[in-house]
Amino acid sequence: MKVLLSIFLLIQTIWSFQLPFTVPDVFSSSSRKHTHYSKLNPQDHPIDLSQYKEDVVIRVSYANSPSLKEFLTKSEVTFNKWGKNNNQQTVDIQINEEELVKLIEKFPSLEYHTIIEDLPQRIYETFPLQESQVFAQDDDFHVQSELFFKEYRELATIESWLNLLQSTFPDVVKIEDIGETFEHKKLNVVHFSVPNGDVEHKDKKTIVITGGVHAREWISVSSTLYLIYQLIKLYSAWPNSKILTQLDFLFIPVINPDGYEYTWTNDRLWRKNRQETPIPKCFGIDIDHSYGYHWTKSSDWACGEEYSGEVPFEAFESRLWDEYLNKTNKDHNIYGYIDLHSYSQEILYPYAYSCNQQPRDEENLIELAWGIAKSIRMKSGTNYNVLPACIDKDSDLLPDLGSGSGLDYMYHNRAYWAYQFKLRDTGGHGFLLPAKYIEPVGDEIASAILYFCKFILSDER
Ligand SMILES: [Zn+2]
Repeated sequence: MKVLLSIFLLIQTIWSFQLPFTVPDVFSSSSRKHTHYSKLNPQDHPIDLSQYKEDVVIRVSYANSPSLKEFLTKSEVTFNKWGKNNNQQTVDIQINEEELVKLIEKFPSLEYHTIIEDLPQRIYETFPLQESQVFAQDDDFHVQSELFFKEYRELATIESWLNLLQSTFPDVVKIEDIGETFEHKKLNVVHFSVPNGDVEHKDKKTIVITGGVHAREWISVSSTLYLIYQLIKLYSAWPNSKILTQLDFLFIPVINPDGYEYTWTNDRLWRKNRQETPIPKCFGIDIDHSYGYHWTKSSDWACGEEYSGEVPFEAFESRLWDEYLNKTNKDHNIYGYIDLHSYSQEILYPYAYSCNQQPRDEENLIELAWGIAKSIRMKSGTNYNVLPACIDKDSDLLPDLGSGSGLDYMYHNRAYWAYQFKLRDTGGHGFLLPAKYIEPVGDEIASAILYFCKFILSDER
Protein backbone atom coordinates (compact mmCIF):
# COMPACT_ATOMS: atom_id res chain seq x y z
CA MET A 1 0.00 0.00 0.00
CA LYS A 2 2.86 2.32 0.95
CA VAL A 3 4.58 1.63 -2.37
CA LEU A 4 1.39 2.38 -4.23
CA LEU A 5 0.96 5.62 -2.35
CA SER A 6 4.49 6.79 -3.07
CA ILE A 7 4.08 5.97 -6.77
CA PHE A 8 0.87 7.95 -6.74
CA LEU A 9 2.55 10.91 -5.07
CA LEU A 10 5.39 10.72 -7.60
CA ILE A 11 2.92 10.79 -10.49
CA GLN A 12 1.15 13.69 -8.86
CA THR A 13 4.45 15.59 -8.62
CA ILE A 14 5.35 14.96 -12.24
CA TRP A 15 1.80 15.70 -13.31
CA SER A 16 2.04 19.20 -11.96
CA PHE A 17 5.68 19.86 -12.69
CA GLN A 18 6.76 23.30 -13.80
CA LEU A 19 8.44 24.10 -17.06
CA PRO A 20 12.05 25.31 -16.90
CA PHE A 21 11.30 28.83 -18.12
CA THR A 22 9.09 31.68 -17.08
CA VAL A 23 6.47 33.40 -19.09
CA PRO A 24 7.06 37.09 -19.92
CA ASP A 25 5.39 39.34 -17.40
CA VAL A 26 3.19 41.11 -19.93
CA PHE A 27 1.11 37.96 -20.04
CA SER A 28 0.77 37.47 -16.31
CA SER A 29 -2.73 37.93 -15.00
CA SER A 30 -1.60 40.62 -12.56
CA SER A 31 -0.77 42.97 -15.42
CA ARG A 32 -4.09 42.23 -17.04
CA LYS A 33 -6.39 45.19 -16.61
CA HIS A 34 -9.61 46.00 -18.37
CA THR A 35 -10.71 49.61 -18.27
CA HIS A 36 -14.39 50.20 -17.75
CA TYR A 37 -16.26 49.26 -20.93
CA SER A 38 -18.24 52.50 -20.85
CA LYS A 39 -15.00 54.46 -21.45
CA LEU A 40 -14.35 52.62 -24.70
CA ASN A 41 -15.75 53.14 -28.12
CA PRO A 42 -18.57 50.57 -28.50
CA GLN A 43 -16.86 49.42 -31.68
CA ASP A 44 -14.00 48.19 -29.52
CA HIS A 45 -16.27 46.05 -27.38
CA PRO A 46 -15.82 42.34 -28.11
CA ILE A 47 -19.61 41.97 -28.40
CA ASP A 48 -22.56 44.31 -27.90
CA LEU A 49 -22.32 44.87 -24.14
CA SER A 50 -25.27 47.25 -23.95
CA GLN A 51 -27.62 44.25 -24.18
CA TYR A 52 -26.77 43.45 -20.53
CA LYS A 53 -26.86 46.91 -19.03
CA GLU A 54 -30.37 46.64 -17.56
CA ASP A 55 -29.61 43.34 -15.84
CA VAL A 56 -28.14 42.22 -12.54
CA VAL A 57 -27.70 38.75 -11.08
CA ILE A 58 -29.41 38.18 -7.76
CA ARG A 59 -29.40 35.28 -5.33
CA VAL A 60 -32.88 34.39 -4.16
CA SER A 61 -33.48 32.29 -1.07
CA TYR A 62 -36.46 29.95 -1.14
CA ALA A 63 -35.75 28.45 2.30
CA ASN A 64 -38.90 30.01 3.73
CA SER A 65 -41.02 29.77 0.62
CA PRO A 66 -41.60 26.42 -1.12
CA SER A 67 -44.01 28.10 -3.51
CA LEU A 68 -41.21 30.40 -4.66
CA LYS A 69 -39.01 27.42 -5.47
CA GLU A 70 -41.85 25.83 -7.41
CA PHE A 71 -42.45 29.08 -9.26
CA LEU A 72 -38.78 29.44 -10.17
CA THR A 73 -38.53 25.83 -11.31
CA LYS A 74 -41.75 25.29 -13.14
CA SER A 75 -43.10 28.46 -14.55
CA GLU A 76 -42.08 29.90 -17.85
CA VAL A 77 -40.31 32.81 -16.28
CA THR A 78 -38.86 35.37 -18.62
CA PHE A 79 -35.64 35.92 -16.74
CA ASN A 80 -32.51 33.85 -17.07
CA LYS A 81 -31.73 31.19 -14.47
CA TRP A 82 -28.04 30.80 -13.67
CA GLY A 83 -27.18 28.40 -10.89
CA LYS A 84 -28.44 27.16 -7.60
CA ASN A 85 -27.41 25.72 -4.29
CA ASN A 86 -29.53 22.94 -2.85
CA ASN A 87 -27.91 23.07 0.57
CA GLN A 88 -28.40 26.76 1.03
CA GLN A 89 -31.69 26.68 -0.87
CA THR A 90 -30.88 29.51 -3.21
CA VAL A 91 -31.28 30.18 -6.92
CA ASP A 92 -29.26 32.74 -8.88
CA ILE A 93 -31.17 34.64 -11.54
CA GLN A 94 -30.32 37.29 -14.08
CA ILE A 95 -33.08 39.85 -13.98
CA ASN A 96 -33.93 43.43 -14.95
CA GLU A 97 -35.61 45.98 -12.75
CA GLU A 98 -39.07 45.58 -14.22
CA GLU A 99 -39.01 41.80 -13.78
CA LEU A 100 -37.69 42.16 -10.25
CA VAL A 101 -40.55 44.47 -9.32
CA LYS A 102 -43.02 41.90 -10.65
CA LEU A 103 -41.31 39.13 -8.70
CA ILE A 104 -41.51 41.16 -5.49
CA GLU A 105 -45.17 41.91 -6.15
CA LYS A 106 -45.81 38.18 -6.42
CA PHE A 107 -43.62 37.28 -3.41
CA PRO A 108 -43.70 40.33 -1.11
CA SER A 109 -41.30 38.84 1.43
CA LEU A 110 -38.75 37.90 -1.25
CA GLU A 111 -35.30 37.34 0.29
CA TYR A 112 -32.53 38.18 -2.14
CA HIS A 113 -29.25 39.98 -2.57
CA THR A 114 -27.33 41.12 -5.62
CA ILE A 115 -24.31 38.96 -6.52
CA ILE A 116 -23.34 40.60 -9.82
CA GLU A 117 -24.05 44.27 -10.17
CA ASP A 118 -22.14 45.57 -13.19
CA LEU A 119 -22.98 42.69 -15.51
CA PRO A 120 -21.67 44.18 -18.80
CA GLN A 121 -18.30 44.94 -17.18
CA ARG A 122 -18.03 41.44 -15.66
CA ILE A 123 -18.76 40.06 -19.12
CA TYR A 124 -16.24 42.32 -20.79
CA GLU A 125 -13.55 41.23 -18.34
CA THR A 126 -13.82 37.57 -19.40
CA PHE A 127 -12.62 38.43 -22.90
CA PRO A 128 -8.86 38.57 -23.57
CA LEU A 129 -7.31 42.03 -23.98
CA GLN A 130 -5.00 41.05 -26.81
CA GLU A 131 -6.22 39.84 -30.15
CA SER A 132 -5.61 36.12 -30.21
CA GLN A 133 -3.10 34.79 -32.65
CA VAL A 134 -2.96 31.67 -34.71
CA PHE A 135 0.02 29.41 -34.10
CA ALA A 136 2.60 28.53 -36.73
CA GLN A 137 3.53 24.90 -37.20
CA ASP A 138 7.11 25.50 -36.07
CA ASP A 139 6.11 27.33 -32.88
CA ASP A 140 7.40 25.83 -29.65
CA PHE A 141 4.47 23.94 -28.20
CA HIS A 142 5.36 24.40 -24.52
CA VAL A 143 6.12 28.11 -24.76
CA GLN A 144 2.90 28.76 -26.69
CA SER A 145 0.87 26.63 -24.30
CA GLU A 146 1.99 28.57 -21.25
CA LEU A 147 0.62 31.70 -22.93
CA PHE A 148 -2.43 29.94 -24.29
CA PHE A 149 -3.78 29.19 -20.79
CA LYS A 150 -3.52 32.78 -19.56
CA GLU A 151 -6.79 33.69 -21.26
CA TYR A 152 -9.99 32.11 -22.50
CA ARG A 153 -9.65 31.40 -26.22
CA GLU A 154 -11.97 31.64 -29.14
CA LEU A 155 -12.69 28.65 -31.35
CA ALA A 156 -10.14 29.43 -34.08
CA THR A 157 -7.35 29.81 -31.53
CA ILE A 158 -8.33 26.55 -29.83
CA GLU A 159 -8.27 24.73 -33.17
CA SER A 160 -4.90 26.24 -33.94
CA TRP A 161 -3.49 25.09 -30.56
CA LEU A 162 -4.87 21.59 -31.13
CA ASN A 163 -3.20 21.49 -34.55
CA LEU A 164 0.10 22.53 -33.00
CA LEU A 165 -0.37 19.83 -30.36
CA GLN A 166 -0.97 17.21 -33.02
CA SER A 167 1.96 18.25 -35.16
CA THR A 168 4.27 18.30 -32.12
CA PHE A 169 3.13 14.89 -30.82
CA PRO A 170 1.92 13.02 -33.92
CA ASP A 171 2.40 9.58 -32.37
CA VAL A 172 0.22 10.36 -29.39
CA VAL A 173 -2.44 12.85 -30.46
CA LYS A 174 -4.90 12.48 -33.31
CA ILE A 175 -7.57 15.08 -33.96
CA GLU A 176 -10.58 13.25 -35.36
CA ASP A 177 -13.16 15.30 -37.19
CA ILE A 178 -16.40 13.41 -36.50
CA GLY A 179 -18.81 15.53 -38.52
CA GLU A 180 -20.33 18.94 -39.08
CA THR A 181 -22.63 20.97 -36.89
CA PHE A 182 -25.67 22.95 -38.04
CA GLU A 183 -23.40 25.91 -38.82
CA HIS A 184 -20.93 23.63 -40.64
CA LYS A 185 -18.30 23.73 -37.94
CA LYS A 186 -16.13 20.70 -37.36
CA LEU A 187 -16.81 18.62 -34.28
CA ASN A 188 -13.36 17.56 -33.10
CA VAL A 189 -12.48 14.64 -30.88
CA VAL A 190 -8.94 14.60 -29.51
CA HIS A 191 -7.82 11.00 -29.35
CA PHE A 192 -4.90 10.77 -26.92
CA SER A 193 -3.29 7.37 -27.03
CA VAL A 194 0.30 6.48 -26.17
CA PRO A 195 1.42 3.44 -28.18
CA ASN A 196 2.10 0.43 -25.99
CA GLY A 197 3.67 -2.70 -27.48
CA ASP A 198 2.21 -4.89 -24.74
CA VAL A 199 -1.41 -3.80 -24.81
CA GLU A 200 -3.49 -3.55 -27.96
CA HIS A 201 -5.31 -0.28 -28.40
CA LYS A 202 -8.74 -1.89 -28.23
CA ASP A 203 -7.86 -3.54 -24.91
CA LYS A 204 -7.01 -0.30 -23.18
CA LYS A 205 -9.60 1.27 -20.93
CA THR A 206 -10.88 4.49 -22.47
CA ILE A 207 -11.72 7.62 -20.53
CA VAL A 208 -13.95 10.23 -22.15
CA ILE A 209 -13.97 13.88 -21.13
CA THR A 210 -16.25 16.51 -22.64
CA GLY A 211 -16.39 20.28 -22.18
CA GLY A 212 -18.44 23.18 -23.46
CA VAL A 213 -21.81 21.40 -23.72
CA HIS A 214 -23.27 24.67 -22.51
CA ALA A 215 -21.74 27.47 -24.51
CA ARG A 216 -21.33 30.07 -21.75
CA GLU A 217 -19.49 27.67 -19.40
CA TRP A 218 -16.06 28.69 -20.72
CA ILE A 219 -14.15 27.26 -17.77
CA SER A 220 -15.26 23.77 -18.85
CA VAL A 221 -13.62 24.30 -22.25
CA SER A 222 -10.37 25.67 -20.85
CA SER A 223 -10.24 22.87 -18.27
CA THR A 224 -10.65 20.13 -20.88
CA LEU A 225 -7.82 21.67 -22.90
CA TYR A 226 -5.74 22.04 -19.75
CA LEU A 227 -6.20 18.33 -18.97
CA ILE A 228 -4.83 17.45 -22.40
CA TYR A 229 -1.85 19.70 -21.69
CA GLN A 230 -1.21 18.05 -18.32
CA LEU A 231 -1.29 14.63 -19.97
CA ILE A 232 1.26 15.84 -22.53
CA LYS A 233 3.47 17.13 -19.74
CA LEU A 234 3.20 13.76 -18.01
CA TYR A 235 4.06 12.06 -21.30
CA SER A 236 7.11 14.31 -21.81
CA ALA A 237 8.37 13.56 -18.29
CA TRP A 238 7.37 9.95 -17.92
CA PRO A 239 6.18 8.27 -21.12
CA ASN A 240 5.95 4.85 -19.46
CA SER A 241 3.53 5.92 -16.76
CA LYS A 242 0.72 3.39 -16.35
CA ILE A 243 -1.88 6.07 -16.83
CA LEU A 244 -0.56 6.64 -20.33
CA THR A 245 0.29 3.11 -21.38
CA GLN A 246 -2.79 1.36 -19.95
CA LEU A 247 -5.42 3.99 -20.58
CA ASP A 248 -6.77 5.63 -23.70
CA PHE A 249 -8.39 9.07 -23.78
CA LEU A 250 -11.04 10.80 -25.85
CA PHE A 251 -11.46 14.51 -25.25
CA ILE A 252 -14.07 16.79 -26.78
CA PRO A 253 -12.99 20.25 -25.60
CA VAL A 254 -15.82 22.08 -27.39
CA ILE A 255 -18.76 19.76 -27.95
CA ASN A 256 -20.96 22.76 -28.81
CA PRO A 257 -18.81 24.75 -31.26
CA ASP A 258 -21.70 26.75 -32.75
CA GLY A 259 -22.88 27.88 -29.33
CA TYR A 260 -19.35 28.56 -28.13
CA GLU A 261 -18.59 30.73 -31.16
CA TYR A 262 -21.85 32.60 -30.57
CA THR A 263 -20.75 33.49 -27.02
CA TRP A 264 -17.66 35.12 -28.55
CA THR A 265 -19.50 37.02 -31.26
CA ASN A 266 -23.02 37.80 -30.01
CA ASP A 267 -24.17 36.75 -26.57
CA ARG A 268 -21.68 35.77 -23.84
CA LEU A 269 -24.48 34.12 -21.88
CA TRP A 270 -25.79 31.80 -24.61
CA ARG A 271 -26.27 28.19 -23.44
CA LYS A 272 -27.72 25.97 -26.23
CA ASN A 273 -26.47 25.04 -29.68
CA ARG A 274 -27.56 27.20 -32.63
CA GLN A 275 -29.76 25.04 -34.84
CA GLU A 276 -33.19 25.92 -36.13
CA THR A 277 -36.32 25.02 -34.18
CA PRO A 278 -39.99 24.86 -35.23
CA ILE A 279 -40.40 28.46 -34.05
CA PRO A 280 -38.90 31.02 -36.44
CA LYS A 281 -36.15 33.15 -34.87
CA CYS A 282 -35.84 30.79 -31.89
CA PHE A 283 -32.58 28.94 -32.17
CA GLY A 284 -30.92 26.20 -30.26
CA ILE A 285 -31.45 22.86 -28.57
CA ASP A 286 -29.99 22.15 -25.15
CA ILE A 287 -27.59 19.35 -26.10
CA ASP A 288 -27.78 18.01 -22.55
CA HIS A 289 -31.49 17.32 -23.03
CA SER A 290 -31.04 15.71 -26.41
CA TYR A 291 -29.53 12.29 -25.70
CA GLY A 292 -31.67 9.25 -26.38
CA TYR A 293 -31.72 7.67 -22.94
CA HIS A 294 -34.94 8.40 -21.04
CA TRP A 295 -35.52 11.27 -23.38
CA THR A 296 -38.80 13.15 -22.98
CA LYS A 297 -39.77 16.34 -24.73
CA SER A 298 -39.11 19.27 -22.47
CA SER A 299 -41.97 21.38 -21.22
CA ASP A 300 -39.76 24.34 -22.06
CA TRP A 301 -40.64 25.84 -25.42
CA ALA A 302 -38.24 26.18 -28.35
CA CYS A 303 -37.07 29.64 -27.30
CA GLY A 304 -36.28 28.42 -23.79
CA GLU A 305 -32.92 27.42 -22.36
CA GLU A 306 -33.95 23.84 -21.57
CA TYR A 307 -35.44 23.03 -24.98
CA SER A 308 -34.91 19.35 -25.81
CA GLY A 309 -35.83 19.36 -29.49
CA GLU A 310 -38.82 17.42 -30.84
CA VAL A 311 -37.14 14.02 -30.99
CA PRO A 312 -34.13 12.38 -29.29
CA PHE A 313 -30.73 13.10 -30.88
CA GLU A 314 -32.15 16.03 -32.84
CA ALA A 315 -29.17 18.12 -31.73
CA PHE A 316 -26.41 17.65 -34.31
CA GLU A 317 -23.78 17.26 -31.61
CA SER A 318 -25.42 14.47 -29.59
CA ARG A 319 -26.25 12.62 -32.82
CA LEU A 320 -22.69 12.89 -34.20
CA TRP A 321 -21.25 11.73 -30.90
CA ASP A 322 -23.65 8.77 -30.76
CA GLU A 323 -22.79 7.83 -34.36
CA TYR A 324 -19.07 8.08 -33.64
CA LEU A 325 -19.39 5.83 -30.59
CA ASN A 326 -21.37 3.25 -32.55
CA LYS A 327 -18.87 3.34 -35.40
CA THR A 328 -15.84 2.95 -33.12
CA ASN A 329 -17.47 0.53 -30.71
CA LYS A 330 -14.88 -2.17 -31.41
CA ASP A 331 -11.90 0.19 -30.94
CA HIS A 332 -12.88 1.72 -27.62
CA ASN A 333 -13.50 0.09 -24.34
CA ILE A 334 -15.09 3.02 -22.51
CA TYR A 335 -14.86 2.81 -18.71
CA GLY A 336 -14.96 6.37 -17.51
CA TYR A 337 -16.88 9.48 -18.48
CA ILE A 338 -16.63 12.98 -17.09
CA ASP A 339 -18.74 15.83 -18.46
CA LEU A 340 -17.47 19.25 -17.40
CA HIS A 341 -19.88 22.11 -16.71
CA SER A 342 -20.04 25.16 -14.49
CA TYR A 343 -20.84 26.51 -11.96
CA SER A 344 -21.44 25.51 -8.29
CA GLN A 345 -18.56 23.14 -7.38
CA GLU A 346 -20.42 19.87 -7.51
CA ILE A 347 -19.78 16.30 -8.52
CA LEU A 348 -23.02 14.82 -9.82
CA TYR A 349 -23.58 11.12 -10.24
CA PRO A 350 -26.34 9.32 -12.21
CA TYR A 351 -29.17 9.32 -12.72
CA ALA A 352 -30.27 12.75 -13.84
CA TYR A 353 -33.70 11.76 -15.13
CA SER A 354 -35.04 10.26 -11.91
CA CYS A 355 -34.25 9.94 -8.23
CA ASN A 356 -36.25 6.70 -8.09
CA GLN A 357 -33.87 4.77 -10.30
CA GLN A 358 -30.96 3.37 -8.31
CA PRO A 359 -27.66 3.43 -10.18
CA ARG A 360 -25.65 0.19 -10.27
CA ASP A 361 -22.85 -0.08 -7.74
CA GLU A 362 -24.25 3.02 -6.06
CA GLU A 363 -22.14 2.81 -2.92
CA ASN A 364 -18.90 2.68 -4.89
CA LEU A 365 -20.10 5.37 -7.25
CA ILE A 366 -20.67 7.72 -4.32
CA GLU A 367 -17.45 6.72 -2.58
CA LEU A 368 -15.46 7.39 -5.73
CA ALA A 369 -17.15 10.79 -6.07
CA TRP A 370 -16.15 11.74 -2.52
CA GLY A 371 -12.61 10.51 -3.25
CA ILE A 372 -12.52 12.81 -6.27
CA ALA A 373 -13.81 15.71 -4.15
CA LYS A 374 -11.11 15.01 -1.58
CA SER A 375 -8.36 14.98 -4.22
CA ILE A 376 -9.56 18.44 -5.31
CA ARG A 377 -9.57 19.73 -1.74
CA MET A 378 -6.06 18.38 -1.15
CA LYS A 379 -4.81 20.12 -4.29
CA SER A 380 -6.34 23.57 -3.84
CA GLY A 381 -8.48 23.64 -0.71
CA THR A 382 -11.61 24.04 -2.82
CA ASN A 383 -14.72 22.23 -1.64
CA TYR A 384 -16.86 20.32 -4.10
CA ASN A 385 -20.14 18.83 -2.99
CA VAL A 386 -21.35 15.39 -4.11
CA LEU A 387 -24.99 14.76 -4.99
CA PRO A 388 -27.17 12.80 -7.38
CA ALA A 389 -27.76 14.62 -10.66
CA CYS A 390 -31.55 14.28 -10.29
CA ILE A 391 -31.46 16.54 -7.22
CA ASP A 392 -29.34 19.13 -8.98
CA LYS A 393 -31.68 19.12 -11.98
CA ASP A 394 -34.88 19.23 -9.87
CA SER A 395 -36.14 16.08 -11.60
CA ASP A 396 -38.24 15.44 -8.52
CA LEU A 397 -40.18 18.65 -9.14
CA LEU A 398 -40.35 18.46 -12.90
CA PRO A 399 -39.13 15.15 -14.41
CA ASP A 400 -38.31 16.47 -17.88
CA LEU A 401 -35.64 18.80 -16.43
CA GLY A 402 -33.37 15.77 -15.99
CA SER A 403 -34.18 13.81 -19.13
CA GLY A 404 -31.96 13.15 -22.13
CA SER A 405 -28.71 14.07 -20.39
CA GLY A 406 -25.27 13.09 -21.66
CA LEU A 407 -24.45 11.76 -18.21
CA ASP A 408 -27.27 9.19 -18.18
CA TYR A 409 -26.69 8.22 -21.80
CA MET A 410 -22.97 7.57 -21.28
CA TYR A 411 -23.51 5.85 -17.93
CA HIS A 412 -26.21 3.58 -19.24
CA ASN A 413 -24.73 2.67 -22.61
CA ARG A 414 -20.97 3.08 -22.34
CA ALA A 415 -19.12 4.07 -19.22
CA TYR A 416 -19.16 2.02 -16.06
CA TRP A 417 -18.18 5.11 -14.06
CA ALA A 418 -19.68 8.45 -15.06
CA TYR A 419 -20.01 11.90 -13.54
CA GLN A 420 -20.85 15.45 -14.35
CA PHE A 421 -18.59 18.01 -12.66
CA LYS A 422 -19.78 21.55 -12.12
CA LEU A 423 -16.64 23.59 -11.78
CA ARG A 424 -15.94 26.83 -9.91
CA ASP A 425 -17.17 29.00 -8.50
CA THR A 426 -20.18 29.07 -6.14
CA GLY A 427 -21.65 32.23 -7.66
CA GLY A 428 -19.43 35.23 -6.96
CA HIS A 429 -18.62 35.20 -10.68
CA GLY A 430 -20.86 32.39 -11.87
CA PHE A 431 -20.40 31.81 -15.60
CA LEU A 432 -18.07 34.81 -15.72
CA LEU A 433 -15.15 33.28 -13.85
CA PRO A 434 -12.11 35.48 -14.56
CA ALA A 435 -9.29 34.08 -16.70
CA LYS A 436 -6.86 34.05 -13.77
CA TYR A 437 -8.74 30.97 -12.53
CA ILE A 438 -8.09 28.92 -15.67
CA GLU A 439 -4.89 27.38 -14.28
CA PRO A 440 -5.98 26.86 -10.65
CA VAL A 441 -9.22 25.20 -11.77
CA GLY A 442 -7.30 23.22 -14.41
CA ASP A 443 -4.87 22.01 -11.73
CA GLU A 444 -7.53 20.89 -9.29
CA ILE A 445 -9.47 19.10 -12.04
CA ALA A 446 -6.25 17.44 -13.22
CA SER A 447 -5.89 16.09 -9.67
CA ALA A 448 -9.46 14.84 -9.79
CA ILE A 449 -8.95 13.11 -13.14
CA LEU A 450 -5.69 11.59 -11.95
CA TYR A 451 -7.53 10.12 -8.98
CA PHE A 452 -10.28 8.88 -11.32
CA CYS A 453 -7.70 7.28 -13.65
CA LYS A 454 -5.98 5.56 -10.74
CA PHE A 455 -9.28 4.15 -9.59
CA ILE A 456 -10.08 2.85 -13.07
CA LEU A 457 -6.65 1.25 -13.36
CA SER A 458 -7.23 -0.61 -10.10
CA ASP A 459 -10.81 -1.58 -10.94
CA GLU A 460 -10.83 -5.27 -11.87
CA ARG A 461 -13.99 -5.08 -13.89
ZN1 LIG B 1 -23.74 23.01 -18.19
